[in-house]
Amino acid sequence: RESARLFLRRNTFVLFTVAAVALGVVLGFGLRPYKLSIREVKYFSFPGELLMRMLQMLVLPLIVSSLVTGISSLDSKASGKMGVWAVIYYMVTTFIAVFIGIIMVVIIRPGKGNRDSPVSSSGNIEPVQAADAFLDLIRNMFPPNLVEACFKQYKTVYKKTTIQETVEEMVPMPGSSGGVNALGLVVFSMCFGLVIGNMKQQGHALREFFDSLNNAIMHLVSIIIWYAPVGILFLIAGKIVEMKDLAEVGGQLGMYTVSVIVGLLFHGLVVLPLLYFLVTRKNPYSFIGGLLQALITALGTSSSSATLPITFRCLEENNHVDKRVTRFVLPVGATINMDGTALYEAVAAIFIAQVNNMELDFGQILTISITATAASIGAAGIPQAGLVTMVIVLTSVGLPTEDITLIIAVDWFLDRLRTTTNVLGDSLGAGIVEHLSRQDLQNQDAEIGNSVIEE
Ligand code: ASP
Repeated sequence: RESARLFLRRNTFVLFTVAAVALGVVLGFGLRPYKLSIREVKYFSFPGELLMRMLQMLVLPLIVSSLVTGISSLDSKASGKMGVWAVIYYMVTTFIAVFIGIIMVVIIRPGKGNRDSPVSSSGNIEPVQAADAFLDLIRNMFPPNLVEACFKQYKTVYKKTTIQETVEEMVPMPGSSGGVNALGLVVFSMCFGLVIGNMKQQGHALREFFDSLNNAIMHLVSIIIWYAPVGILFLIAGKIVEMKDLAEVGGQLGMYTVSVIVGLLFHGLVVLPLLYFLVTRKNPYSFIGGLLQALITALGTSSSSATLPITFRCLEENNHVDKRVTRFVLPVGATINMDGTALYEAVAAIFIAQVNNMELDFGQILTISITATAASIGAAGIPQAGLVTMVIVLTSVGLPTEDITLIIAVDWFLDRLRTTTNVLGDSLGAGIVEHLSRQDLQNQDAEIGNSVIEE
């Protein structure tokens, strides 16, 4: 009985959160017959909206403070190596995810047969070229105005004017979190952290400042976490109340949904854990057990950046990953490492090709893998961002971008699952990078120990 009590005490939050999901599902389905209006659904899900807002509120200071402290507290050799390991992990796992997606959609062939729904027509905006999207990705890494980067992100479009000219225009990216340019902030904070780290004594005040800012934010996280189960309950129930009838999602769309789900499950529950095990020789599933709350938050919010505060907490408190690693790799991972999104983009593009009876050759499939990777890097960690960056993948092989409408009906659901996979990938990545960097971390600990003794 003592051990049961200990288990309950240790896992209170997780149990609450799991109970919240179950209750949310029951409540949601219980309320569906009442056919609530959009406004009523909005009122009903208000506690969920609040959770989303609270988490998003923390993301910006969290990204900046954790990256600056994380990088400035490492010597440049250690941070360089850690960075290289992280990038290798991100690239390898994203490519594997894309590969799994392609295999799934090619085997299951969800788009075979005649198309289920008609296509809507496009407006006066010229189709995006893959090159434009690549340039936008790089542009966003260097925001001309840091303050603006905190709330806006732009993309370039070419518009046809009435006098048959084409003009170039920068338009704000759609996004429910106000389109924070996380990529720009990540690049800036990393450079800033490196510089502060090299300034030695001179940079001391700044280091202290960002360190205590980071601690303060993490304290806020530990308060908000109490509210998380309530928020998640209403986020999930609200979504179930407003979703379309499941019976409508039959035929091609149903098979497409199955292809994405099977791919995500295989990647998240088999491939990534196997990789974790091969590198660390530790049990991946007990590591994943410590992440449960972050994974459920990702499922509830559909946003890996809103989940970031909880991911930090799970990794540091439950899985005891070194803070120097989490602070460095988590914000970067949440911004650019999206295995779930990459997998989904590849499946969706090939599905659309199948629906249009278009046979893709090997070169085109390769193009899809590369652009799906780029699209996942460019997607912000906000709800349904992957749907927006899909355009890059479709245009790169000449598929009609209007056909995105074919998959919109199920996107809210797939978005939740791919976000959970994204968060899982980032977290296992932190564990792997910690393992690979342990020698450097120990060396640094020894150096700090020596300098304390000398003083
Ligand atoms: N919602 C996803 C995330 O936040 C991005 C996507 O739409 O694929 O990770």
